[in-house]
Parts: sequence; C-alpha cells; structure tokens
Amino acid sequence: MTIETKLTVDEAIAAILSEVRCLPVVRVPLDAALGQVLAEDVISDRDSPPFDKALMDGYAVRSADVAQGSATLRVIDEITAGQVPRVPIVPGAAARIMTGAPVSEGADAVVAVEQTRLHDEDSGTVFVQIESTPVAAGRNILKQGASTRRGTRVLAEGRQIRAQEIGALAELGKDYVAVYARPRVAVLSTGDELVPAGCTPGPGQIRNSNEVMLSAQLRQMGAVPVPLGVARDDRRELREAIGRGLACDMLLLSGGVSAGKLDLVPEVLSELGVRQVFHKVRVKPGQPVWFGMLDLRTADRDCENGRSRTDDLPKRPCCVFGLPGNPVSSMVCCELFARTAVRRMMGIEPAAPRGLRARLSRDHFNSGNRPTYHPARWELTDSGAVVEPVKWVGSADLSATVEANAMVLFPEGGRTFSAGTTLDVYVW
Ligand code: AMP
Ligand code: MG
Repeated sequence: MTIETKLTVDEAIAAILSEVRCLPVVRVPLDAALGQVLAEDVISDRDSPPFDKALMDGYAVRSADVAQGSATLRVIDEITAGQVPRVPIVPGAAARIMTGAPVSEGADAVVAVEQTRLHDEDSGTVFVQIESTPVAAGRNILKQGASTRRGTRVLAEGRQIRAQEIGALAELGKDYVAVYARPRVAVLSTGDELVPAGCTPGPGQIRNSNEVMLSAQLRQMGAVPVPLGVARDDRRELREAIGRGLACDMLLLSGGVSAGKLDLVPEVLSELGVRQVFHKVRVKPGQPVWFGMLDLRTADRDCENGRSRTDDLPKRPCCVFGLPGNPVSSMVCCELFARTAVRRMMGIEPAAPRGLRARLSRDHFNSGNRPTYHPARWELTDSGAVVEPVKWVGSADLSATVEANAMVLFPEGGRTFSAGTTLDVYVW
C-alpha cells in the first residue's frame, strides 16, 4: 500500500497497523518480562493452596470438640510453616499451628492463639484451654485448591505482564516465560546543525535533544533503543547510517523529511529499498511525518535481481519512521505513530493510542487548520477529568512539554473552544 495523499491521524494509524506484525516469541527470565505480553497460556501445575492451610497462628482442632466455644484439649503436635503434621488430630486433641502450615488430618478448624491459654503441664503433657465463640468447621482454614485448581488456565496468551502477573507466574513455577520480543529500535538524528548535548553550540548549531528524548520514550514503551548518533545531511553518510539502522526491528529517524533542500531522508530510504507507506499526515505538530517498511519481500526480490547479497537481507522486516526534526513534532509523532508500532510488535492490544475524555478548564483559541495535539495539564477533580492547555509557541518549544503531562486534541478549524468543552486527552 502506498499512500500519496495526506492522511488523517486515524488513517495513518490504521496504515501502520496493517503493516506491522508481532515480533517472534522469545523465552525470557521472569524478572525481565515486566511490560511484555505473554505468548503462551499458563496452566496451574498444582492446586493453590497445595494443602489445607492455616490462616492464623493458633491451634488446629476438631470443630466438634469446640462446638460450644470452650474446651480443654491435649496438645499433641506443633506445625510451623514448611513442616508437615506428624500425627492426626483425634477427639480431645489439638496441634499448635502457625500461619501457612498444613492443617493436620482430622482437624477442620484453627482457633486463633489470642482465644487460647496454655494449661498446666502435668508430667510433660500440655493442655490448651480454648475460650471462643462456638467454632464451626472451616474456621481460619483456606481449603486446598480454593484459589486455583490444578489444570486451570491462570493466565492467557495476550496478557501484559505487570507486577501481579510476575508474582502469579512465580507461584506457578515459571522462572522463564514465553513473550513477544521487545523491538530493538535504532534512533538516528539527522542534520548538519546538530552537536552533542555536552557541547556549546557554535553559530547556527543546536544541541541534539531528539536522540536522548526519543530513546527515553522508547524505553518507556518497553522497546530497546539503539542510538546511532547523528548523520549529516549528506547522501553517503545518511545511506551508511540508515543501512545500519535497518538491521533493527524499527528505525526512528528525526529530521530531513520536510521540503528543504537538504531533506534527503525519503529519497535515501527509497534508494535503500524501503517502501513508502505514507508521507505527511493532517496533524499539528508533525505534518511531514514519513512511514515505510523494509520487508522481506523487497529484499527477496532485490536478491533475485542480483542487486542484494544474501547477507544483506533483513532477518525480519524493519518499519521506518521519519519524524520531523522539531523536537515537539518528533515527540508527538513518536507518541502517536511509533508507539502504535511498538505496541503491535510487542503484542499489546489495543495498539492504537487511547485517550481519555476531559473538560477544558478555560476558553482556548486554537489557530490550527489541522487537528492539533497541544501540550496540556490534566487532572482528575471531584467533578471528573479537567484539562488545561499550557503556553506553547510551537513545534520547537520543548519547554511547554516539560510543563505538560498530556496532550489535548483540538479538532481542525481555527476557533475558540469554550470552557467545559469535552476533548480527547492523551497522557504523556
Ligand atoms: P528538519 O526536520 O530537519 O527540517 O528540522 C526541523 C527543525 O528541527 C530544525 O530547526 C532543526 O534544527 C531541528 N532539529 C532537527 N533535528 C533535531 C534534533 N535531533 N534535536 C533538536 N532539534 C532538531
Ligand atoms: Mg534537517
């Protein structure tokens, strides 16, 4: 699919989703899987709890012995967590038991230690006096399998792994899990004017803020950034650096996709066999954004034509975003478009950005002839979500994003949006 006309944001996202696939399944150590998506169903290999378990420190008893609430019982065993009972509980007997320990055979309730008192010891025999409300069977016991039965599917393929899934997976004995791989994303800034953050820019120069910013955004998404530094606005240098980036699952370029004399990125990508899917989206900021695919099909065909050697072939497709160089444009396009691709690759659904609805806190004039993603602050108040656009002087104004915790979407058409208007908000 090649799209020449300017797409809407929704159409651009649909185009990305029609091109990008989940990455292959990999097995990773459980503690490295946070944020990834399970690629397997996880079945319980045992009951949980695996035995009838004491929920209190106290005494394991036969409820029939304590049906009236008070009784004196002979203590015949002591079970701490990690041990197993040595003897069954017979009528008139009890076992001292700790939280988490297996309940003795014959016992069907646990009386909390606070409701007991140890009795005189005669010739080494210990008695416990129980003063409780009437004890029914099951008190303070979690029955075997009450939480999960052996053979039950506890977690299904497609589940994104949070801290609680990590805990549940550990309980299920999974020290390694099958997940969709994290995309490795090459980050390449382009521009003759760029110097590293640690340098004092000379005349006409600016610091390269995009490389570290985009890398940080990628890390927040769960991807693995591969920073490639800066390529000058020079065909040979771009070709060499882009070529390296195409070995990753995704390449995120910034700069060089607009209409300037040295905006060479789309041409060089096309020379390298990257198929353009779209160029330009009806969005502000970020209109010149470019998206394409280097897919195995292209490489195979090139190979047949003798134009590519086997070791040049990508092992996987690579999706390529050319983001406009202005930092806020780069940031917004990364959030809207690159994030969608990363989520799809990682198996996170829905992959498309999802906003929340919030009321505008004050009148706001939006001058855009395109839908505008404006840096904003949103908060949850007693009367629901409220959003306030921050002062922003355009796509080079990164300081506005520092004040913001979201972007608010103003639909296209220059006009004043009055306080109370409900708008879509995308949390940053
Ligand atoms: P371009 O998209 O290459 O036309 O660049 C648009 C604007 O973004 C220019 O003012 C560039 O200097 C600026 N810019 C480009 N790349 C970066 C970068 N990596 N970091 C900060 N600003 C950039
Ligand atoms: Mg440039």
